[in-house]
Amino acid sequence: MSAAYSLARDASLRAWNTFRLEAQAAVFATVHDAAALPALLADPALAGLPTMVLGRGSNVLFAARRYEGAILHLACAGARIEQEDSTHAWVHVDAGVEWDALVDWTLDRGLQGLENLALIPGQAGAAPIQNIGAYGAEIADSVVAVHCFDRATGSFTRLDNEDCGFGYRDSVFKRETDRRIVTALQLRLSRGGATNLRYAGLPEELAAMGGVPPTPRNVAAAVRRIRGRKLPDPALVGNAGSFFKNPVVASALAAELQARFAALPVFPTRDPATRKLSAAWLIERAGWRGFRDGDAGVSAQHALVLVNHGAATGQQLLDLARRVAASVATSFGVQLEPEPRVVGAQFVT
Ligand SMILES: Cc1cc2nc3c(=O)[nH]c(=O)nc-3n(C[C@H](O)[C@H](O)[C@H](O)COP(=O)(O)OP(=O)(O)OC[C@H]3O[C@@H](n4cnc5c(N)ncnc54)[C@H](O)[C@@H]3O)c2cc1C
Repeated sequence: MSAAYSLARDASLRAWNTFRLEAQAAVFATVHDAAALPALLADPALAGLPTMVLGRGSNVLFAARRYEGAILHLACAGARIEQEDSTHAWVHVDAGVEWDALVDWTLDRGLQGLENLALIPGQAGAAPIQNIGAYGAEIADSVVAVHCFDRATGSFTRLDNEDCGFGYRDSVFKRETDRRIVTALQLRLSRGGATNLRYAGLPEELAAMGGVPPTPRNVAAAVRRIRGRKLPDPALVGNAGSFFKNPVVASALAAELQARFAALPVFPTRDPATRKLSAAWLIERAGWRGFRDGDAGVSAQHALVLVNHGAATGQQLLDLARRVAASVATSFGVQLEPEPRVVGAQFVT
């Protein structure tokens, strides 16, 4: 074993997933230096085992009680300004940096672009996987390049933004699961300029904060206030944020549903032939908000969030997710897809 990484066997993952599920990994590898990834992957302790990267486990559902493989956790956590001019800065961020701490780090340096993404749990390295997004912004808006170790070629590589295949909660990293280990991001952030207040609710929140000006710091504070009210805190009740993606459907189906349900929120997409529907609205309308079966439940605070009230198993949460999705399919003819990665089972309704 090298000091660049450390290995533990039969490791508990309870502290490593925000659903706070009891699960075990055959091997848990903590990577202190990304340069050691080739050596780690060749370590006899990992021979024959599947591997997956785990950040903070805030977008993962461990459906089985044991992952018969090796978890790789990147603990390299530095950030620096690589280059700057009068209007922009190019920031290099290691995968192990905590996302929300990075948001503050950029604000402290007068940089803007990440403020709408404040308070999203997890590590920076996970941000491009599902192209994290909130309050009218996505990480794709700020990514210049993603540095990774490509297991298919056995080499370190760099993907420019246009090669990352970013989409709504999607990317090439997510589609080609476990192929690339993200080691660092290069972001381009601006100095000055207007903040993004397109998302309904943000101007109102700034007004409720005493009519403060929409500086990046105030926008981040407003986002944190709204999120604190809307979403259950994983420190208090296990959850992985939104459990389902907002479904993208044919415009004709969206129009048909809107004719039946005038209150259904429908959003445009880049493709005029499709529309995005509010999954939360569909789930709530199907009667699931606040539902509880044992310790597996649907949050009473937000219908899109599945919660572990204490001792739910991953299988129980998965069963509940399947029931919710099946009921939405029956009521509205719309298929819901999970947003978190389900480990140890397939999500089929
Ligand atoms: C309360 C709450 C609110 C949330 N709100 C939002 C939100 O507003 N918007 C949003 O988009 N998401 C949201 N999420 C989901 C989650 O925070 C993000 O997806 C986050 O980026 C996951 O980071 P993580 O480190 O926990 O990744 P993990 O959950 O550990 O991993 C997620 C996926 O990324 C892969 N992965 C992680 N790190 C790497 C790496 N370095 N290289 C390659 N693959 C990697 C994993 O294998 C897995 O497939 C929320 C979650 C919670 C609990």
